[in-house]
Amino acid sequence: MLVILSFFVAHWVLSVFMQTFFLHRYAAHRMFTMSKGWERVFELLTFIFQGSSFLSPRGYALLHREHHAFSDTDRDPHSPHTSKGFIDMNWKTAVRYAGLWRGTIKPEPRFEGGYPEWPALEKLADSWLVRVGFGGLYTLVYIAYAPHWAFYLLLPFHYFMGPLHGAIVNWFGHTAGYRNFDTDDKSRNSLPFDFVTMGELFQNNHHRYGQSLNFAARAWEIDPSYWVIRGFAALGIIQIVKEQKQRYPEAPAANASAPAFAPARRADLSS
Ligand SMILES: [Zn+2]
Ligand SMILES: [Zn+2]
Repeated sequence: MLVILSFFVAHWVLSVFMQTFFLHRYAAHRMFTMSKGWERVFELLTFIFQGSSFLSPRGYALLHREHHAFSDTDRDPHSPHTSKGFIDMNWKTAVRYAGLWRGTIKPEPRFEGGYPEWPALEKLADSWLVRVGFGGLYTLVYIAYAPHWAFYLLLPFHYFMGPLHGAIVNWFGHTAGYRNFDTDDKSRNSLPFDFVTMGELFQNNHHRYGQSLNFAARAWEIDPSYWVIRGFAALGIIQIVKEQKQRYPEAPAANASAPAFAPARRADLSS
């Protein structure tokens, strides 16, 4: 049982960390830079840790920039408030993500650029052979170590780990929890210590301060990924270009000054 639980927790944490660190904060928001070599290392790790449910940085970034621009309106690709329910929201998300990634849906030009692209790896990761192969590996671990058949109910979580994390954040981050900031959307902070999605559930803070590397705003809030990323910066693996500071409580006049939308290109960060 220890092997199965360790496998589940490790897969969960490593997958969601790559999502928040590499796909979200790096690919979509360009909150920091890194060398081409490190970018390849981290995209490879994203492929390994997300495995059967690998998400492409480009598809993720385009979808996510649309989410910031249209949060909780009719044009939001995944708002619980404009969907008929949890399944409907995720179905629409999947269709739009696939269209953006494969080029059958054309995004607005302002959302394009500045994300990592590695066509050979992404093509391989998206092949049925690789996706099903990873699924088979997860299943083999359970066949070898599950002490009871009921543990097999956890397998679908492994198969769909990447989109599942997105679904949790997109649904609960806009329906459950408290608000620090009076944003135009319905974003919420679901957990004061977000150990479930490594910081992603501070949606209200993140929609208010879209370029803040730290998703926690108040003294008692903890964003675990922020501290790992600061560690990477201290080791010289990444470079934090310009760190936007969250302010809580904020002065009423400050409302207009903080950028709410993620810049698409690296050059935008230096301005
Ligand atoms: Zn959001
Ligand atoms: Zn974001």
